[in-house]
Amino acid sequence: MTDLLSETIAARRDDLIELTQALIRIPTLNPPGADYRTICDFIAARLRPRGFNIEFIRAEGTPGDSDVFPRWNIIARREGRDAGECVHFNSHIDVVEVGQGWTHDPFGGALVDGKIFGRGACDMKGGLAASVIACEAFIDTHPNFTGAIEISGTADEESGGYGGVAYLAERGFFDPARVQHVIIPEPLNKDRICLGHRGGWWAEIETHGEIAHGAMPFLGDCAVRHMGAVLATFEDRLFPAMASRRTDMPVVPDGARQSTMNINSIHGGQPDQDPGDTSLPAHCVPDSCRIVIDRRFLIEESLEGVRAEVTNLLEALKETRPDFEYTLTEINSVLPSMTDRDAPVVRTVAQAIEKVIGRPPEYVASPGTYDQKHIDRIGKLKNCIAYGPGILELAHKPDEYVGVDDMIHSAQVMGSALETLLMKNLPAV
Ligand SMILES: [Zn+2]
Repeated sequence: MTDLLSETIAARRDDLIELTQALIRIPTLNPPGADYRTICDFIAARLRPRGFNIEFIRAEGTPGDSDVFPRWNIIARREGRDAGECVHFNSHIDVVEVGQGWTHDPFGGALVDGKIFGRGACDMKGGLAASVIACEAFIDTHPNFTGAIEISGTADEESGGYGGVAYLAERGFFDPARVQHVIIPEPLNKDRICLGHRGGWWAEIETHGEIAHGAMPFLGDCAVRHMGAVLATFEDRLFPAMASRRTDMPVVPDGARQSTMNINSIHGGQPDQDPGDTSLPAHCVPDSCRIVIDRRFLIEESLEGVRAEVTNLLEALKETRPDFEYTLTEINSVLPSMTDRDAPVVRTVAQAIEKVIGRPPEYVASPGTYDQKHIDRIGKLKNCIAYGPGILELAHKPDEYVGVDDMIHSAQVMGSALETLLMKNLPAV
């Protein structure tokens, strides 16, 4: 990258700190989806004087959208001198609940020993701030660049992205004719490129029984015992089968390179009593038991295969348990996404990391999911990665922080990538 851009970014350290703090101080909690318009207005006020065209898009009718908590998104676009490719930086504006255990004000943005603390500091207001500084410094040092730069702030990533990137993708904002390169500054560490993520399938399984007096359980049919049989067959057959599959995706941590499943919850029979309710439970055979499963799958597996594997095990229980009856209700699904290692945005950011940090990047994939799924599956745009500052393991934790040096370095990587992609005639330096 040019020394001029590198130095310009480093010299804007105070601006970067203040911007990150200001973003953290807008408590965009999701749920419920608070202050989305406030943060969009803040980003607009920052970028409009720098020549960005601003669009606000409310994802009307998406989950959680209401007049009290409208799902606002912002897309800011800055055209270069000549037409060319567009590089898009996409950050989600929402943060997860605060939780217990904080020693800093979660919405204070305290700067201590080169770290900025707050909910969303790392996931991902630090990444948003770094991309804003990178783009502004690039525009100031290369005013005649070719193509366009977009910066988006999008809603609801933490709850699936349906009021954010999915909504925008459905309306063509990630059409490859409009946007050619996407960088999502999620906190994946400044020397790693995240190529994609695993898939997910969420479902509720209910076993059915028949209510009867608890003293004569043989006159009823215990739904909890049926669920016990479901869990036993999962232990005996499903978990070992999943553990035997290993993906070629570079998923981190290593334990997530196999198929996994979490059982989120289990409930059978009478409702839990309220705290303080000292009445004794009635004697009944439970006629219903429910679990919610969270099945994460690999790019080598199909959603249909994942579904069939569970359904086949449930159907097989009908052979051994004559009264076994169940209902399976699908809650949601997400397909895996993985960008090619030799895609232009991957190659460009890899070179930029080598230049700025001095070593080749590590390529990773996320064990969970993020908004790349919508850009890939709905937008049909394959040239997309996650790259941004912050330590992945701090996301959603108490005393979440982002390091200022890490933000500077990743902003320099983003700036260097902009030079490669939007300065086709950049003189050698
Ligand atoms: Zn995030």
